Amino acid sequence: MQPYQFSQSQALLRRATQVIPCGIYGHFGPAPYTPLEHYPFFVEKAVGSRLWDVDGNEYIDYMCAYGPMVLGYGHPRVDEAYRKQMAEADIASLASTRMVELAELLVDLVPVADWAFFAKNGADVTNYAVMIARAATGRKKILAIGGGYHGTAPWMQAPGRHGCIAEDHEHVIRVAWNDVEAIEQAVGAHAGQIAAMIASPYHHPIFADNAAPADGYWSQVQQVLDREGILLISDDVRCGFRLHLGGSNEKYGFKPDLICFSKAIANGYALSALVGTDALKSDAAGVFHSGSFWYSAGSLAAAIACIEELKAIDGPALLEQQGRKLLDGMTQLAAAHGLDLRVTGEPAMPYLRLTDDPSLMLHQRFCGECTRRGAYFTSHHNWFLSTAHTDDDIQQTLDIVDESLKAIRRESSD
Ligand code: PMP
Repeated sequence: MQPYQFSQSQALLRRATQVIPCGIYGHFGPAPYTPLEHYPFFVEKAVGSRLWDVDGNEYIDYMCAYGPMVLGYGHPRVDEAYRKQMAEADIASLASTRMVELAELLVDLVPVADWAFFAKNGADVTNYAVMIARAATGRKKILAIGGGYHGTAPWMQAPGRHGCIAEDHEHVIRVAWNDVEAIEQAVGAHAGQIAAMIASPYHHPIFADNAAPADGYWSQVQQVLDREGILLISDDVRCGFRLHLGGSNEKYGFKPDLICFSKAIANGYALSALVGTDALKSDAAGVFHSGSFWYSAGSLAAAIACIEELKAIDGPALLEQQGRKLLDGMTQLAAAHGLDLRVTGEPAMPYLRLTDDPSLMLHQRFCGECTRRGAYFTSHHNWFLSTAHTDDDIQQTLDIVDESLKAIRRESSD
């Protein structure tokens, strides 16, 4: 097949750069994440597992909007619940019944949760969680994992980033993932000063292999934190509702004090949630946190429908099963072409890397070639499966992968 062209995307990106800083900001932006010549930048339509760009090219989408899409774009049950709610009330001057219903649903579903709170983006609730932990403990410092991501507030960004000042990081102590000794050292050096540790259930940095918790990691971490009166915040924004419906911590056998959800909670409608234990309920009540759009009833209704659907079809089991089919097929094809494709992270949201070129340029070319043939892959970030990815989608993807591996082999032998 003829690889795709992106002339409309490129023209629109040129227009965008005239009126929007960067043209497209953040993780949807072009290089260094996605090379201009091999990627689309603007969407025209998205249905089920597929999207179409402004040039009319069709893709099987393995980025799933970077996580929010979990049941397929335009899922009938979720969209119907949203439309029904929108016909009644969305943003109004009062909170909605849906807010109470969704809180009840989460309290029933998530073992750690005795209460729930809603906002819009992941960073709204990671920030709120830290504020609650500081209020509850009267301490300032936060332990975080180096290379972990919690949003774009200054304290969450990597030190040295443009627009951040050293003081933003004054009370953030970063330790390496899977290093209990480093946590012990930090706790010793800042005795009685650490309010909370914030971490994802497993480590999913960009441009690097993802890493599961080592055997015993979470139980050892919890022992240290409990001993020192330090709270544990699970940032489940990316993994939540993909790995386990009760919070991904249930899969890995630990019990945080607070869990942050967003992304997949409402199949693409804007919503985030913080859930927590009874012990923190009055501290949460005391921390002022709000936003103009945080009470939007449409997103809350969509979340109820999304979670009910994920329960009904056992979404996490399905995602793991389809992920495994894709990954087994891909690693076999790479081996047949004499290449080593390393898979890390969970099958529902894997990170892949061709190890034959440590600069990652070969891998970037491979992902670009797949994208130009209709399987939307990025090279820097973990991918996402959805329950809309069928066996036929996966077979078609494997055919694209085979073609793309041939193309990069041809290029390197030229
Ligand atoms: N935490 C994690 C683990 C994330 O992956 C993200 C988003 N990529 C966030 C927090 C921040 O979420 P948002 O971009 O919605 O603020």
